Amino acid sequence: MNSSISERIVSIRSSLPTSVKLIAVSKQVSAQAIRSAYSAGIRDFAESRIQEAASKQAELQDLSDITWHFIGHLQSNKAKKAIEQFSWIHSVDNLKLAQRLDQLAQQLGVSPQVCLQVKILPDPNKSGWSVPELLADLPTLDQYKNLQIQGLMTIPPSGLNDPEILNVFNLNRELAKKIQEQNWSHIKMQQLSMGMSGDYELAVQAGATMVRLGTILFGDRS
Ligand SMILES: *Cc1c(COP(=O)(O)O)cnc(C)c1O
Repeated sequence: MNSSISERIVSIRSSLPTSVKLIAVSKQVSAQAIRSAYSAGIRDFAESRIQEAASKQAELQDLSDITWHFIGHLQSNKAKKAIEQFSWIHSVDNLKLAQRLDQLAQQLGVSPQVCLQVKILPDPNKSGWSVPELLADLPTLDQYKNLQIQGLMTIPPSGLNDPEILNVFNLNRELAKKIQEQNWSHIKMQQLSMGMSGDYELAVQAGATMVRLGTILFGDRS
């Protein structure tokens, strides 16, 4: 790609509805490139590895109004660091992890914002709740009062065509609506974290509120 990071950000930002949060996925991207994106107005950055994020976050401490989002598979033994380093965790993918995060959040006196990762279609390559599993776990999740459960995150299985991808995103929106209509005391369903570089336009069409873009902003991670 021969346009600059800031040009790409400006152009994508202007193509998105203002209600959609643009999250720059900075995994495998240098602190320097993150600074460029910050200069172009990005304040939300996402990482998928705790360790890698820690060194960049330390290097970028002067950019104190960045909101950090965790989007990778989170192992239990990294849960504490995840809560300490990130305001958002999009990839809460099972009940045990949610319970652990809730306990840690209470101990640390914080209330992280989280999305529940759901597999709208079966996908052996991804973690996350199946739809029936998620519906069954909602009564328990509703008791995790130290987590601010804000919505659903989904990634379509690879190999789908555009109409199939759009369908996955639409089903995710409908699932969130269905959960919202169950009137849980604590769970909220206002956020739909969906859409990556290859499919974010379809996600936006289906009602995404947060898109997670890496390659299209920063170039190939190689
Ligand atoms: C890497 C990653 C992204 C960004 O992917 P791109 O295709 O580079 O935009 C978004 N979400 C998750 C969960 C990721 O792991």
